[in-house]
Order: sequence, then C-alpha cells, then structure tokens
Amino acid sequence: MNRQIVTLNAGSSSIKFAVFDEDVRPPTLIASGLAQSVGGARHILVRDRAAVALHEEQWVPSEASAFHADALRRVLAWRTGAFPDARVAVVGHRVVHGGAHFDRPVVVNDDVLAELAALEPLAPLHQSHNIAGIFAARAAWPDVPQVACFDTAFHRGHPFVHDVFALPRSFYRDGVRCYGFHGLSYEYVMGRLRAIAPREAAGRVVVAHLGNGASMCAILNGASVACTMGFSSLDGLPMGTRCGRLDPGVILYLLLEKKLGVAELSEMLWTESGLKGLSGISNDMRELEASDQPQAREAIDYFVSRVRYELGGLAAALDGLDAIVFCGGVGENSWSIRDRVLEGMDWIGIKVDRTANRAGAERISSAGSGVRVFVIRTDEEAIIAQRAVELLALQVFLTAR
Ligand code: ADP
Repeated sequence: MNRQIVTLNAGSSSIKFAVFDEDVRPPTLIASGLAQSVGGARHILVRDRAAVALHEEQWVPSEASAFHADALRRVLAWRTGAFPDARVAVVGHRVVHGGAHFDRPVVVNDDVLAELAALEPLAPLHQSHNIAGIFAARAAWPDVPQVACFDTAFHRGHPFVHDVFALPRSFYRDGVRCYGFHGLSYEYVMGRLRAIAPREAAGRVVVAHLGNGASMCAILNGASVACTMGFSSLDGLPMGTRCGRLDPGVILYLLLEKKLGVAELSEMLWTESGLKGLSGISNDMRELEASDQPQAREAIDYFVSRVRYELGGLAAALDGLDAIVFCGGVGENSWSIRDRVLEGMDWIGIKVDRTANRAGAERISSAGSGVRVFVIRTDEEAIIAQRAVELLALQVFLTAR
C-alpha cells in the first residue's frame, strides 16, 4: 500500500489542500485543490499535477454546517474515494502564527494545540481556521501525525532591531514583535535558489513575495534578517485589500475623530484598502493592469513605489545585495511590474535583461549585472509536505533509538 502526505492550508473562507506521494524524495505532488465558500454556495475543485481537473463538486450548505468541518469532510471523502489503496502517513498544516516560541515545524499534540490557541489574538483572522483544520484532520485520521508548519518560523532569528517596535519594553516581552510572515514561501524559494544559484543563495538576498498578500524579506546566508510584514500581515507593502504601512496616527484619528468602530476599522484595513481601496476598482492586479482608469494606474504606481522603497531599505539592512527573487502571483506573472520595480536601479547594481523578463525566464538579470535577479514559482504546499515528512522521519528515528 503506498503512502501519502496530505497538506491543508485553511483560510477564512477557503481551504487549499494537496496530496503528495510519500514514497519518493522529495515528495511529489499527486493532486491539489481548493474548497471555497462563495456567497451562499460551496465549491471544491481538485486538479492533478498537470492542472487537469480531477474532481469538482458544488453544494448549498444547511444553516448549521460550519464551512471548515463541512468542506474538510468532503475533501477527505474525495481523497479516500480517489485513492482507496493509499494510506495517509502524515498531515502537514499551514499555521500562520507560531508566536515567539515555534521556530520550526512541530508535531501537534494537546499541549501544542493549547499554545496555538493562545496565539489566536495575534492572528484573529487566520489562526482559528488553521486550528479548525487540525481538529478536523485529527478527527478524520486519529492515528496519523499532524504537523504544524508556521509562517512566522522562518523569521524567528531576526536580530533585535528588526524584531522590535519602539514602544515601552514591556510590550515586546508581551509578544508585540515584528514576527514576519510568508515564511513557508521564503523557505521554498530559498531552496530553489540554492539549487540554481548557490553562491547568491549563500549571500545577501531580497525575496519579494508579491501576491494578493505581499511582503518582502531580507535574507542573509539563508536566514531571515528583516521582513516588511511585522506584528500582523497588515504591515509593509500595500496588498490586494490590505493597507500595508500606515502611520499609527491615522488609526488614532479614525477612531477618535472619525468615530469609526473597532470592527469597522478592522474590516476597512483588512478588506477595503490596498489596491482595492486606492483604485476603487479591484484588488486584482490583472484587472488593474488592463484598466485605462487613472485610479487603477495610481494604485499600481503606489504599489511599485512601495516595493522599490522597501527594496532599498532591505538592501541597507543587508549591507548590499547579491540577488533579488520575485515570487507570488504578481511577482511570477507580471513582467511589467517587475520591469517597473527594477527600472533605473543601476545604482544598486541591477541590470535587467528585458527580453528574459518579458519571456518570464527564471533568471532575468543581464550577464553583467552585479545583482542577479530571478523569478521563482513559489510552492507553499511542497515545503509543508517536505517539512512534515522530515519531521516524521526524525520521530521514527528517535523512537527507534
Ligand atoms: P494569494 O496571496 O491569494 O496566494 P497570489 O499569489 O495567487 O495570491 O496572487 C494573486 C495576484 O496575482 C492577483 O492580484 C492577480 O491579479 C495577480 N496575477 C496573477 N497573474 C497575473 C498576471 N499575469 N499579471 C498580473 N498580475 C497577475
């Protein structure tokens, strides 16, 4: 009987999942899918590794059915039906927040679950869904190890100056820190960079994860030094619907003078700001690039200028730069955004090969460029599967000793 790894990435209204073959190294993708709750309906679509649709279902939920439990039950039923002869060896979960404590993946037990639940206030929009995913998988496979892989773990080694806000010190001790996020994506991308450009990967690298959620990370010899996302994943770059960097005085003004309620303010910062708020058109970069409206153009201009600004800051944090990597939906697919971010950056040593950039090549810097620039397709599910199976092997080894 062959063995599989299942990965779960549970968001507020969607669950990304994937099934990998555990018998090969690194684990290879068999199928991946998305369960979503859109309007009144729920929907699951599963594709094979060539993106060919394998399974699709849609249903209208009964009043009482919670999305996560409901969708997971169907996802698991699909997997059992599709692979009746395969056994699940381990389930890997994306967990947004590992707090100050978790600096690597961990096998989930009741103590870990209690620690993860205690971190819910730090990531109120995500953590509870991640935990719900773990509970659902535990209920489905009580004897299968569940591994939590954290978005924050990659950043736990930040030097103090990039881990702290200039607030009274007691807040830092209470966990008000620059945690950084997108760590699983950064880890995956750095693994690929080590394979294609080992010298640069061992040097000073800025990775720009530009998707609907967007952040940038300064990495020195494979270790995160600073990240544009800080205490929450609202900080740093403007995103599809999140504001990014904001003067805290604006928050005070909106609360005190404009009398916005806390819930209203939170909703605005998370879901009505960023590209969507600035353009008034869409959170989707493709739509904005296709639009001839001046507000769409201004929203893109703002996004590009913030990426360039952060690139300068992160390069300073690294004392220079050997490589830049673009990833995420925008970073991987929009040659024009990459082009605009890198334009006129000769002063920092960047020379772009415009043809390679337009063609979406893996390396887009020209031969004489002091800083090498790459486009790498990120794969958070792959890194979760890999880390889960490594931890499983370590456990087996330690138990056998
Ligand atoms: P998430 O953070 O939700 O995982 P993605 O990494 O999938 O998001 O990125 C989604 C973003 O990528 C959207 O804004 C989408 O418009 C953008 N995108 C995808 N393909 C292209 C493209 N060809 N050109 C410009 N933007 C693109």
